[in-house]
Amino acid sequence: MRVYLAVIALLAAVHSEELFNGDHVLRVHAESEDHIQILKELERDVNSGLDFWTHAVSTERPVDIRVPHSSLNAVKLFLKKSNIPFTVMINNVQELLVREREEMVHNAEMERKTKSFNFAAYHDLETIYKFMDTLVDKHSNLISKERIGSTFENRPMYVLKFSTGGEKKPAIWIDAGIHAREWISHATAVWLANRIATDFEKNRALVPSILGHVDIYLMIVANPDGYVFTHHSPNTHYRLWRKSRSVTSNPKCPGVDLNRNWDAHFGGPGASDDPCAEDYRGPSVQSEIEVKNIADFIMSHGNFKSFMTLHSYKQLLMYPYGYSGTDAPDKPELHDVATQASKALNSWHGTVYKVGSIFHTIEPASGASADWAYLRGIKYSFAFELRDTGKYGFLLPADQIVSTATETWLALKYIMKHVCDHPY
Ligand SMILES: [Zn+2]
Repeated sequence: MRVYLAVIALLAAVHSEELFNGDHVLRVHAESEDHIQILKELERDVNSGLDFWTHAVSTERPVDIRVPHSSLNAVKLFLKKSNIPFTVMINNVQELLVREREEMVHNAEMERKTKSFNFAAYHDLETIYKFMDTLVDKHSNLISKERIGSTFENRPMYVLKFSTGGEKKPAIWIDAGIHAREWISHATAVWLANRIATDFEKNRALVPSILGHVDIYLMIVANPDGYVFTHHSPNTHYRLWRKSRSVTSNPKCPGVDLNRNWDAHFGGPGASDDPCAEDYRGPSVQSEIEVKNIADFIMSHGNFKSFMTLHSYKQLLMYPYGYSGTDAPDKPELHDVATQASKALNSWHGTVYKVGSIFHTIEPASGASADWAYLRGIKYSFAFELRDTGKYGFLLPADQIVSTATETWLALKYIMKHVCDHPY
């Protein structure tokens, strides 16, 4: 196998012009423990140029790999020789990137002309920050904006606080976008901010009663530097950037996986110590200013009862642990809440979610935020992987934003109500 890996690495090195026409996303089906080990080794080879969108964990879960056009034949041959079946999920990544960018340009023009905000479109950081200000102005009786610190590149990090008043009320945390390329999570959070405000204003169930019990804190962009990079880097390919933008020990490989950097069994399974890996955990626990800012904010508040984090893709609703396969003490209740929430979600469009612990449902992941929150006594800790199941992966078309957000809202509302009804 090493020979094939070397061939793939060589081709990736030749592929330096950074054109992505013809990049494929292959869906690979491991059928044995041997297959899983082969795929794991392939993923560990950070020089291969392959971008694992999902990971080899079990024979029940396919592995999606973005393969540069220049490596395509070598990778296909390698998989065939290894008797590992695969199908093509996306046969030209560049086409999707270009279409998405054209849609955004067109939408920005429309928004300028009509002076309105289109929830069915993706927006850059500047536009999202402006949207937040407009929303706060419009609903100043309910919403305030708090700056919780700055990023590595010195951008402000904001949370929206939805509150009907009262000192140190119990609170619910929702964040999105800790992984930069998961654009549907930011877009969903934007829609949610507006929905919570309008439901409150129009006295629509269940928002007034939820906000009677708790404050809601919503962080729409948890990784602003990474998000800006996915929009404004000269190379469309960086649309698929996942990590932060901090400097690492390897000048060629900036960025830390902000969802492996938390003080939750940092350095355990499912996180890499290689700065070039997509799941690089960082040099030390909470080394990343973005993680530290959020952790400090939540700890200094001291009364969070629920922590929810939005990712994509795979359609999963998960609870701790990610660092270990053992059950969390509250697993029965968390599983039941997640199951009911996913049923609520399903009632809108029939979208099917899988429910379980992070470790068993998606992959082992140490240093993740949901574990961190849970280990600090925030019992109702959940991680969502939003749409889809891989047809578009991280490049979900904008015309699915509103339906994704609407169904997600039903699940979030169910969980919020449960939190209010079960004080602890
Ligand atoms: Zn993610």
